[in-house]
Amino acid sequence: MKQYKTDIVVVGAGPVGLFAVFQAGMLKMKCHVIDALEVIGGQCSALYPEKPIYDIPAYPEISGRNLIESLAKQAEPFNPIYHLNQRVTKVEKNADGSFNVATSKDILIKSKVVIIAAGCGAFGPNKPPLKDIENYEGNSVFYAVVNPKQFEGKNVVIAGGGDSAIDWAIILADIAKNVSIVHRRNKFRCAPENSDKLYSLHKQGKVSIETPYQLHDLEGQGNSLTQVKVVDLDGNVKAIDADILLPFFGLSMDIGPIVDWGLNIEKKHVKVKASTMETNKKGIYAVGDIATYEGKLKLILTGFSEVARACHSAYNIIYPDTPLHFEYSTTKGVSS
Ligand SMILES: Cc1cc2nc3c(=O)[nH]c(=O)nc-3n(C[C@H](O)[C@H](O)[C@H](O)COP(=O)(O)OP(=O)(O)OC[C@H]3O[C@@H](n4cnc5c(N)ncnc54)[C@H](O)[C@@H]3O)c2cc1C
Repeated sequence: MKQYKTDIVVVGAGPVGLFAVFQAGMLKMKCHVIDALEVIGGQCSALYPEKPIYDIPAYPEISGRNLIESLAKQAEPFNPIYHLNQRVTKVEKNADGSFNVATSKDILIKSKVVIIAAGCGAFGPNKPPLKDIENYEGNSVFYAVVNPKQFEGKNVVIAGGGDSAIDWAIILADIAKNVSIVHRRNKFRCAPENSDKLYSLHKQGKVSIETPYQLHDLEGQGNSLTQVKVVDLDGNVKAIDADILLPFFGLSMDIGPIVDWGLNIEKKHVKVKASTMETNKKGIYAVGDIATYEGKLKLILTGFSEVARACHSAYNIIYPDTPLHFEYSTTKGVSS
């Protein structure tokens, strides 16, 4: 088990969790950030990276992806440590008032404060029910693409008929050796222009379209895939040579273990005192979409303001003997 010590653990690397790192850093508090997803950015990265957002102050228009890139850059001077692709499973109070925060990847972090910025809960991919699929995960099976170059020269099978499946088929057509797209219907559920692009790549022999087929079975050696078997509605099975399988069947969200941390939960949200964002447990704060109080507006800009309140309150726990003198960022500047 890997162990760490820090001032604040932030549960969730969505836009609000990322801004928590900045606000904490401005008050000389260090953060570890944990997220169930393989990438930072929460809903902005997972659900709408290319969509323009119009209500972020000072940005008349900014895409989900660019907002997350800017927030990560703003947090960077404070050297946050990210632990991605793992869930926070336990938060337990120690006798000295600090917390032990445990993750699903056997990491234990001792922290003076916990800020829950968990949105609607942990994101996880909807996995196809294929025998032994977990043996191939991380080597041949991926539910998100972080670096498309890793699929250079590979036989890639993409399963799904939505935007992610089609976007990646188009992008990987120029990188992979072969791209096959498997979908159980003859029509794709994506932007019409992308559907046209896909059929044009198919005509050029760059993408194989396998419809109406469903995933049926996996063949491989060790944790390396060799074939993906697909089946049509009449039960006819066909084998496709494959080094990589990318199943894109959407994401599910699950508030999961947060309900077991002894917090006041109301309709899958954590109740807080609005002035400080503190929960019923001293030292545990909740911000962003997961936090609820009278008059709550579920917007990114609301989460940013909540994080400022939470961090100013948390300062008194982390530096009990040093009173906080409120200062503007223009006065103190940004220094790690
Ligand atoms: C299509 C769409 C369009 C939107 N447009 C706008 C808009 O125009 N303006 C606006 O203000 N808002 C908009 N929103 C809402 C906005 O995206 C959310 O308010 C915002 O993402 C909330 O940020 P957050 O950081 O609180 O949570 P999230 O973005 O949900 O991030 C929470 C993160 O916590 C992680 N997590 C949860 N539990 C755990 C756990 N136990 N362990 C580890 N990780 C965990 C999750 O995996 C997730 O990555 C939109 C939402 C959608 C879906």
